[in-house]
Amino acid sequence: MSALSLTELQAVNSFAALPAAFYTRLAPQGLNNPRLLHANADAAALIGLDPAALSTPEFLDVFSGARPLPGGDTLAAVYSGHQFGVWAGQLGDGRAHLLGEVQGPEGGWELQLKGSGMTPYSRMGDGRAVLRSSVREYLASEAMHGLGVPTTRALALVVSDDPVMRETVETAAIVTRMSPSFVRFGSFEHWSSRRQPDMLKTLADYVIDRYYPECRDAPAGESPADTAPYINLLRAVTRRTALLMADWQAVGFCHGVMNTDNMSILGLTLDYGPYGFMDGFRLGHVCNHSDSEGRYSWNRQPSVALWNLYRLGGSLHMLVQDADALRAVLDEFEAVFTRAFHDRMGAKMGLAAWLPEDEALLDDLLKLMDANQADFTLTWRRLADAVQGRRSAFEDLFIDRPAASAWLDRLVARHAQDGRLVQETVAGMNRVNPLYVLRNHLAEQAIRAAKTGDASEIDTLMKLLRNPFVAQEGYERYATLPPDWAGGIEVSCSS
Ligand code: AMP
Ligand code: MG
Repeated sequence: MSALSLTELQAVNSFAALPAAFYTRLAPQGLNNPRLLHANADAAALIGLDPAALSTPEFLDVFSGARPLPGGDTLAAVYSGHQFGVWAGQLGDGRAHLLGEVQGPEGGWELQLKGSGMTPYSRMGDGRAVLRSSVREYLASEAMHGLGVPTTRALALVVSDDPVMRETVETAAIVTRMSPSFVRFGSFEHWSSRRQPDMLKTLADYVIDRYYPECRDAPAGESPADTAPYINLLRAVTRRTALLMADWQAVGFCHGVMNTDNMSILGLTLDYGPYGFMDGFRLGHVCNHSDSEGRYSWNRQPSVALWNLYRLGGSLHMLVQDADALRAVLDEFEAVFTRAFHDRMGAKMGLAAWLPEDEALLDDLLKLMDANQADFTLTWRRLADAVQGRRSAFEDLFIDRPAASAWLDRLVARHAQDGRLVQETVAGMNRVNPLYVLRNHLAEQAIRAAKTGDASEIDTLMKLLRNPFVAQEGYERYATLPPDWAGGIEVSCSS
């Protein structure tokens, strides 16, 4: 497929073919004097878009909300959800517009503007997103992709001088996100809470037909029971979500707002707000300043995900009377998560395969990291050197050096048990322990530059984070401990 210009994209919008109650058709509210701060050629390639198209006036027009995507059908979707464990009722795209969907070389992608003005679902909000949070979303989704974590993507970042009131006056921006689907757990809760099984079924069938067609497969010789596809859907989402949690835990990512309306039905990382990649490790690290009870702390993420899956299962109960069958599916979460978590953490420790006794080895490291607030990313990255005898950089991360050293002795002994060549072990570790992650202070530096119209830091970070496992010469400062001022950065739900 040759690269296309924007007008050749041939968008459609299959979500718009759902009944009208699923959304509101409306045009975005553009920005005054919008400027394209950054565009992502990698994401453009996913929809077959020519890189040259990124610098055209049409591109800026479409992704600043000034004109529709050719062939698209712009709308804001409705959903509901549980926020911080409490039923919040109707929510929806309060500041996002789905432009349409483009078939790329390897699948379809929905294109959505975020920060593009008020919709019927804006509640008390102004429909806008500030530059700060838009840069953070733009960078984080690409960073997660670089780490191999399932995520929505980002195509473009458009800025303006339009004032937006938050704690202080900031400026408005629009980030274009891409995802095969933006349907959330809360999209299902919306219809079950309204006791509208027909609409719930319509949504479930839409999701199954488009994204999980295998859910309709019956075991050989059997015809699928009426309810089997919905049980299978819950199983598929449960599995993907469990794998996603293992991925998050392994890279030290905290989402910050794991409300059911931010949980992707495709198991993607969705809605980057007050997220954080941990610097100093704390088991109970809370990245979101607004989360005073620590509901969404790092060590609670897997169990919160399961709690959220229970809400999805509760919704599907309207289609599947057999609650035991749904519960049995949810019970699979723990085994899938634990296995994936052990796989990932075992690989990070350089183990050929996970043995039951490795649980204690991992636990003791995490406890030690927690007690010393050791830097998450560097602890893991420096392990590869440490197991080759260059121990000091690793031990430097711990106040209690003797304890760190004693733990290393155990790991080295464990490697001896595996009997692999050191080079092989070390190469494997460096393939899974990133050197570069989007630390808060790196995002902050990119934001500060972006406020002056300078996208060079965004550009540098995009290049490093796209390939976070490989050291790049000249970029050492992106792979060091955070500066003292990083501890003072507060991220909250304000965005
Ligand atoms: P979030 O926690 O950012 O995922 O947002 C929760 C809900 O609030 C969603 O329905 C958003 O669309 C909506 N929302 C957040 N910020 C705004 C805003 N500035 N204007 C309108 N709606 C918003
Ligand atoms: Mg959200």
